Amino acid sequence: MTDEQWEAQNGSLSPIEAVAKGLCWCCTGNGVLYTAFGGVQRTVACPEKCNSGKAKR
Ligand SMILES: [Zn+2]
Repeated sequence: MTDEQWEAQNGSLSPIEAVAKGLCWCCTGNGVLYTAFGGVQRTVACPEKCNSGKAKR
């Protein structure tokens, strides 16, 4: 998988669209963020500490 494909797993929702669906603005419902740089592909926990991608109340 290329870095671009890896990061595409973050989805295409904008933060505003995610919130409108009741999802976390940061990870847009994934609960994790996919980051890649120079072929090093990582999954990191959402820094917003959301509940598995759901928006906090
Ligand atoms: Zn989140």
